[in-house]
Amino acid sequence: MQLKALTLNGFKSFADKTTIEFDHGLTGIVGPNGSGKSNITEAIRWALGEQSAKSLRGERMGDVIFAGTAQRPPLNRAEVTLTFNNADGYLKDQPEEVSVTRRLFRSGESDFLINKRSVRLRDVVEMFMDSGLGRESFAFISQGRVEAIFNSKPEDRRGIFEEAAGVLKYKTQKTKAQAQLQETSDNLARVFDIVHELS
Ligand code: ATP
Repeated sequence: MQLKALTLNGFKSFADKTTIEFDHGLTGIVGPNGSGKSNITEAIRWALGEQSAKSLRGERMGDVIFAGTAQRPPLNRAEVTLTFNNADGYLKDQPEEVSVTRRLFRSGESDFLINKRSVRLRDVVEMFMDSGLGRESFAFISQGRVEAIFNSKPEDRRGIFEEAAGVLKYKTQKTKAQAQLQETSDNLARVFDIVHELS
C-alpha cells in the first residue's frame, strides 16, 4: 500500500483545491515557517478519522475549515481526499486504488467516503486499524511525541506495539464482544428474577 496523492480543498490554509502527489521513495516537504507543512500531515490524520480538534491544534473541529484572510472570505467546507495504491491488496477486500474522503461543513454536517461511497467513521477507522496507519501507530510522529512515548505508562506504550503487531483490531473486537456478553448475562439475570417472582 502506498499513499499516492493527497487533495486538500478548504482545509486550514489550503483554501484552493491542491493536490500533492507522492512518488516512490521519500518525499520531503519544505517551506518557510507558517507555510502549511504541518497542515499537510494534519490533513492526512484528519482524513483517517482524527476526532480530537486539539490534536489538530484547534478548539473545535470547525477550525479545520479555511477561516479566511484579509484578502479572502472564509469558506464553508473543508474536504480532504487520500488516494492509496492498493495493488498489493494490503487493505483487504478493497480495489487496486482506494480513496478516502472526509468532508466537514460549517453547519457541523460531515461525511466520510470510501471510494466515493458514503460510509461511517467506524468503517474508515476499521479499514486502517492494524494497517500501520491507525490512531496509535508510529506513522505520524509529531513534534514532542517521541518524548511523550518514552515518558508514557507501560500499558499505553504496549498499545503502540499492539497496533504495530496487528493485534489491536482483535483486542477491540474482543472488548466489544465482552461488553455484549455482559449485557446479555445482565438481561438473563433480569429474566430469571422475573421468572422467580412469577413462580
Ligand atoms: P512551522 O515551520 O513554523 O512549523 P508550518 O509550515 O508547519 O510552520 P503550519 O503550522 O502547517 O505551518 O501552518 C500554519 C498556518 O496555517 C498559519 O499561517 C495559520 O494561520 C494557517 N491556518 C491554520 N488554520 C487555518 C484555517 N482554519 N484557515 C486559514 N488558515 C489557517
